[in-house]
Amino acid sequence: MEIVLQNLTKKFPSQDRKKKEEVVAVDNFNFVIPDGKLIGLLGPSGCGKSTTLNLISGLQKPTSGRILFGNEDVTKLPPEYRGIGLVFQNYALYPHLTVRKNITFPLENRKGRERLTKAQMNEMADEVAKLVQIDGLMERRPGELSGGQQQRVAIARALVKRPKVLLLDEPLSNLDARLRLQTRDEIRRIQRETGITTIFVTHDQDEAMSISDQIVVMKEGVVQQTGKPQEVYDSPANLFVAKFLGTPPINVFEGRVQSGQLYIGKDAVLDCSARSDQDVWVGIRPEGFALREDGPFCCELGGVEVMGRDISVLSRNPASVNPMVRSIIGAGSSVDTSSPTIRFALRPGKVFLFDKKTEARI
Ligand code: ADP
Ligand code: MG
Repeated sequence: MEIVLQNLTKKFPSQDRKKKEEVVAVDNFNFVIPDGKLIGLLGPSGCGKSTTLNLISGLQKPTSGRILFGNEDVTKLPPEYRGIGLVFQNYALYPHLTVRKNITFPLENRKGRERLTKAQMNEMADEVAKLVQIDGLMERRPGELSGGQQQRVAIARALVKRPKVLLLDEPLSNLDARLRLQTRDEIRRIQRETGITTIFVTHDQDEAMSISDQIVVMKEGVVQQTGKPQEVYDSPANLFVAKFLGTPPINVFEGRVQSGQLYIGKDAVLDCSARSDQDVWVGIRPEGFALREDGPFCCELGGVEVMGRDISVLSRNPASVNPMVRSIIGAGSSVDTSSPTIRFALRPGKVFLFDKKTEARI
């Protein structure tokens, strides 16, 4: 099911009664979610992700704008008629019901021609339980399950109605690190197997990058950039997106374009003949540094961390916005730790320039 968001806006009255300003939780959101894809909706806490999801589900009504499911305008349709499955961070299972009963719960109250027999409901529950791999746990109660298993039950319960759209709001946030990785791969597999159009909300860029066909990056209610995860990483539209994606994060410096050269401090670090003279923010991905004894970019060596496959070099530079510059170099390289300084050449594809005022990519 293709979902179209047109000029979608949601304003809330200010909670502070003295202030008259309203909160614009979602500001003129335009996007087409292609049929059968998994979209990651990404941004820091409070940027409007849950509100966007609630508008799509119908739990909240937009202040203005439209939502289409396929050709149908669902903007005014109540949630129960939208054919959606919802999963939240807290699994919200019924503690006194078995896993089986929790899964069949949304099927129980169907009336008239939609009414299902007990055998039909059990069959549907068995089918989704197998899909999310909890078919061996059907007679247990939620208290007898791990967090990861409980979240699978919640996903099964959302899927049993055979929704056209699956909406997941930070579904992995209550799980520990290892389970989070495992469950996110599971969600990807389930989404691929069912082909259900899915929106996955998270504040965790790593999570969104790893499972999404496309990501939407939001800040303060406004969409900053949309695209395939790798494309957004390789070509961020602005400084916010550049900083939000990537671990370790991008290194940011104050710099200056002058006579076709990019300067960081006194060092002319890169050729940039196509740009006019101006002050800029310079973003350099950790993998954008190459060790070179005669490299143009000089930093004060802070320390070296060997982390599995990579070597992480910590250094200082007066133009850096952060106290430490973190660069990642291949494990084959060796760093002379007795030297007070370290010199790098920069990989042009990993260096981004941003307008000093608007912070837009230039
Ligand atoms: P996220 O899910 O990205 O953390 P939300 O969509 O929950 O963000 O919230 C976006 C903004 O809207 C926040 O500033 C939040 O305080 C505000 N907000 C959300 N729900 C309400 C509400 N019911 N009443 C007033 N303000 C709200
Ligand atoms: Mg939220």
